[in-house]
Amino acid sequence: MDYKPELLKENFVCPHCKIGTQHHWRFLASQSIPELEGQSIWYSDHSFLEHFKVSKCLNCSGPVIWFKDKIVFPTVLSEQPDPHSDMPKEISEIYREAASISSL
Ligand SMILES: [Zn+2]
Repeated sequence: MDYKPELLKENFVCPHCKIGTQHHWRFLASQSIPELEGQSIWYSDHSFLEHFKVSKCLNCSGPVIWFKDKIVFPTVLSEQPDPHSDMPKEISEIYREAASISSL
């Protein structure tokens, strides 16, 4: 299975826990929040907010914030290729962890 993070993909490597796992997606929308009335709040129209999406890792509950098709939080995974499909799971997890920091 290809675990490269992609917009709206259900299973990918979490940039928090580095495990290939399932993510739930959430979408942002603008609305008035009565409790915050009178405070300095930046409202935007839906056309801008729709570019932001949040996925949540089911392994570590870490949130991933996307803008269009790119991860903006946490820092982006490296562009290293995925491990070979025949690689044992334990080794592929080590490979992914090493690949995630190789650009630092
Ligand atoms: Zn995670």
